[in-house]
Amino acid sequence: MIQLYIPLNFLGVLYREIKQSLTDLDRMFHLLETHREVADAPAAQALRVSEGCVRFEDVSFAYEAARPILKGLSFEIPAGKTVAVVGPSGAGKSTLARLLYRFYDVSGGRIAIDGQDIREVTQASLRQSIGIVPQDTVLFNDTVEYNIAYGRPGASRQEVEAAARAARIHDFIASTPKGYDTMVGERGLKLSGGEKQRVAIARTLLKNPPILIFDEATSALDSANERAIQAELKSAAQGKTALVIAHRLSTVVDAHRILVMEQGRIVEQGTHAELLALQGRYARMWLLQQSGGEAAIDAPAGRVA
Ligand code: ADP
Ligand code: MG
Repeated sequence: MIQLYIPLNFLGVLYREIKQSLTDLDRMFHLLETHREVADAPAAQALRVSEGCVRFEDVSFAYEAARPILKGLSFEIPAGKTVAVVGPSGAGKSTLARLLYRFYDVSGGRIAIDGQDIREVTQASLRQSIGIVPQDTVLFNDTVEYNIAYGRPGASRQEVEAAARAARIHDFIASTPKGYDTMVGERGLKLSGGEKQRVAIARTLLKNPPILIFDEATSALDSANERAIQAELKSAAQGKTALVIAHRLSTVVDAHRILVMEQGRIVEQGTHAELLALQGRYARMWLLQQSGGEAAIDAPAGRVA
C-alpha cells in the first residue's frame, strides 16, 4: 500500500507541475497575443500625405489593461507646424510618439494623418512618411553606413556623409579605421548613448520625411553638440509637421504650440508666452530651468510646485 502510494503521489506532483507549466505557457501566449505587433488591416491602403496634418482624437491607451496611461488626449499638429510636448518623466510623452509611429494601436479614439486613420493604412507607407529619433536608439548589427542609409535605402555615400556631418557624427566615424564600413551594435563597435542618438538623427535627416518625431532627441549630448544639432533639427523641421518631445524647455520656445502633460493628460497648452502668462506648471518649470535646474523637467509634479 505504502509502496504504491509513493509513486502515485509522485505522479500527482508531476501532473500538477506539468499542468502548471501548461498554464504558464498559456499565459505567455496570452501575453504575446496582447503585446503582438500591430497588423495591417486586410484592405489597408498606402497613406497619402497631402498636407501632413496629424490629429490625436480622444486617444486613450494602456500597455496593460489594468493601468491606463493616456486618458483621452486630443490635439492637432497642423500641417507644417511644430507641436512640443513637455512634462515630468512617466507622463506618457514617449507613448504618444510610439502610438503615432504605430508601435502600438490606441485603446480608444484614433490618430489620423490627413484624415486617414493610421490603423487603416499600411505600416510600410506610414513609416515611410515619418522619421523618428527615439529616446533610446537601438542600432542594427551592421555598418554605420547601413544604419544611416536605412532611412533612405540607395542613398549615395556623399548623401550619407552630409547627413552625418549635420548630425555631428562624421568626424567620429571618419576617425575609426574602417570609417563608414565599421560594424556597430552588439557584435561591433559599441557606441555611446550620444553617438547612437547622432546616428539616429543622421538617419532621419537623410530620410527627410514629411512628418518628424523627436523624442528627447538630444538628451544624451553635451551642451555644445546639443546646441549645434538643435539648429540642424530646427531647420530640418522647417515646413514639416513635427512632434517634438523636449527635456529642455529652451529647445521648444519657438514651437507653434506646447502641450504640458502630466499623468496621461494635457494639463496646459499654448505658446511659450501664453504658458508663461498662465503662471502655472510650465511657468514654474521654466523658472526652475532658467535658474540652472536642468533636471527640473523630470522632477515629480509635486516637487515642481
Ligand atoms: P515619458 O516619456 O513621459 O517619460 P512614457 O510614455 O515612456 O513616459 O511612459 C508612460 C508610462 O507608461 C510610465 O508609467 C511607464 O512606466 C509606462 N510604460 C512605458 N512603456 C511601457 C511598456 N512597454 N509596458 C508597460 N508600461 C510601460
Ligand atoms: Mg520618454
